[in-house]
Amino acid sequence: MSIEERINKIINEIPKGVTLIAVSKTRTLEEMEEAYKTGIRDYGENKVQELIEKEEKFYKDVRWHLIGHLQRNKVKYIVGKVHLIHSLDNVRLLEEIEKRYFESGETANVLIQINIGKDPNKSGILIEDLEGLIETCEKCNNVKVKGLMTVIPKGTEESNRRYFNEMKKIYDSLSKKRYNNITMEYLSMGMSGDYKIAIEEDANIIRIGEGIFGKRAYNNI
Ligand SMILES: *Cc1c(COP(=O)(O)O)cnc(C)c1O
Repeated sequence: MSIEERINKIINEIPKGVTLIAVSKTRTLEEMEEAYKTGIRDYGENKVQELIEKEEKFYKDVRWHLIGHLQRNKVKYIVGKVHLIHSLDNVRLLEEIEKRYFESGETANVLIQINIGKDPNKSGILIEDLEGLIETCEKCNNVKVKGLMTVIPKGTEESNRRYFNEMKKIYDSLSKKRYNNITMEYLSMGMSGDYKIAIEEDANIIRIGEGIFGKRAYNNI
């Protein structure tokens, strides 16, 4: 199947309110252009360097999503270039985002990434630390929290569903509270292998790489 065919197949399967992010990490601009031609305007990158290089060269009417771990010393490069940062997971990173966006007079839209599987090798905040991060978010002026994101541990359909469902519960409970600067609009979860389950558990942003572009070959880069 071509990139176009894969995208059309996915688009036909997902409900209208779900945003499909084409995860374009390691992909060439030519491959991304194939996605662009089918109407895809949301692109996800996991590295700051790659995102800013592509942002400069690619079509200007696209929305860039930073979906990978964000180091504090890289925040300054993405100000004004990213539609949504999916990977806020600690207070010091938040403080750096607030500072850099304040200096530029911009507002950062972010999702809090939750390490729902408590996987020591994954980024994301642990649920027990969430409250502290939220308290600091409430004091920000240049950061707006728009929802939650997760990358779940590899597992069975059953464990995938359980993690997605836990995320939805956290999302719903935060939705019911009234916070400064924090609204629950986006639940970003589901990748190539599990996006259908994620949507059943109420994801409204899915992030798909290989399911659109085919297998990634990291060693070609
Ligand atoms: C790579 C990546 C994806 C996409 O993964 P696929 O399995 O290629 O669909 C989604 N989310 C994050 C955070 C990623 O790093």
